[in-house]
Amino acid sequence: MINLSSIDVTNKNLVIRVDMNVPLKNGNILDATRIEACLPTIDYALKNNANILLISHLGRPTEGNFEEKFSLMPVANHLSKIIKKSCELIDTPNSDTIFNSNCQVQLLENIRFFHGEKTNSDELGYQLANLGDVYVFDAFGTAHREQASTHSAIKQSKVACAGLLLEKENNFLGKVLDNYENPYLAVIGGAKVSTKLELIKHINNVAENIIVGGGIANTFICAAGYQVGKSLIEDSMIDFAKEILNEGKILLPKKVITSDSFEGSNVKEKSIADIEDHEMILDLKIENETHTIINSAKTILWNGPMGVFENELFEDGTKTLSQAISNSSAFSIAGGGETLSAINKYINLDDVSYCSTGGGAFLEFMEGKILPSIKALNAKNTEE
Ligand code: AMP
Repeated sequence: MINLSSIDVTNKNLVIRVDMNVPLKNGNILDATRIEACLPTIDYALKNNANILLISHLGRPTEGNFEEKFSLMPVANHLSKIIKKSCELIDTPNSDTIFNSNCQVQLLENIRFFHGEKTNSDELGYQLANLGDVYVFDAFGTAHREQASTHSAIKQSKVACAGLLLEKENNFLGKVLDNYENPYLAVIGGAKVSTKLELIKHINNVAENIIVGGGIANTFICAAGYQVGKSLIEDSMIDFAKEILNEGKILLPKKVITSDSFEGSNVKEKSIADIEDHEMILDLKIENETHTIINSAKTILWNGPMGVFENELFEDGTKTLSQAISNSSAFSIAGGGETLSAINKYINLDDVSYCSTGGGAFLEFMEGKILPSIKALNAKNTEE
């Protein structure tokens, strides 16, 4: 990939695809982490006196319609405050005002309002690619989607490069993908095996140990022949789980926290051999053996909570695990929305070597897939 630093962007017009898909409630930004993650590229461009047009999506509006609740106006306002420069919201990519205004920083309205984004249309891609001098792709969180602003525009641009966030994600995640040090430990939690099937397959080939948690652990506990009562499991994944268990890398919890309801009635700590029909496994105990494995790991990949940590009755597994990862000297990476919430809740982002901004993109990258946007950027490099 061509990186931003290898291009002379002084006084140029830069179109920067970012991921500013922040959570909003009544027009208020609940968490601005994604906007902040774009700042290094924006600051770099400003320092080089470049003009900036930012492109982002927000939520899932119906293509072709403007819907106020998906407008990027709150993002433009927030950005203006943090960069201490006004950021102008532009309502259409045809606008004559793009790179022709008093504002050095402009933001195009939600790209998902425009026909052709989802279908990766050549027409929209061409239009976006030709708005400026350089197309900078910095939206790691959406690099796994083949859409007009994440794929076609890169392909059709005169010059395209990776922004600083994409470069950082690629370096940190790439280190664990290709250059990890053993012992390599993967921690995979969350709700469903099916959403992380490819990651588990890949990890099973490379990691020495795999700690499972959440609904994923329940499916493995069931596959190992234990009764799991009313716990969340996926029947269709039992055979797959049995195959993976046979490889001997999965560390099943021995003790778990059960309850008769998600709200927390009749909460008990139990051995996995003693689960009754009316019970659900909603959290797990982190054993001494697990601490030993975490402490001796040189590389740790973490995705997904160990239990229903949103309820403090079932947060202990996720909390203890976060603290153990924070105390370990391993090179650690974490990704996924729930994982970052857990990190923010129990430790600090800095306690992990790198926290990815991606959810789906993080999973696919760590499965060893070359993401469509990265593939398009790589192809651009060989073209030149
Ligand atoms: P994911 O997006 O796949 O990482 O899943 C995260 C969600 O899994 C969280 O909202 C948790 O509440 C949920 N979860 C974790 N453990 C369990 C469990 N034992 N049973 C049901 N849901 C769980």
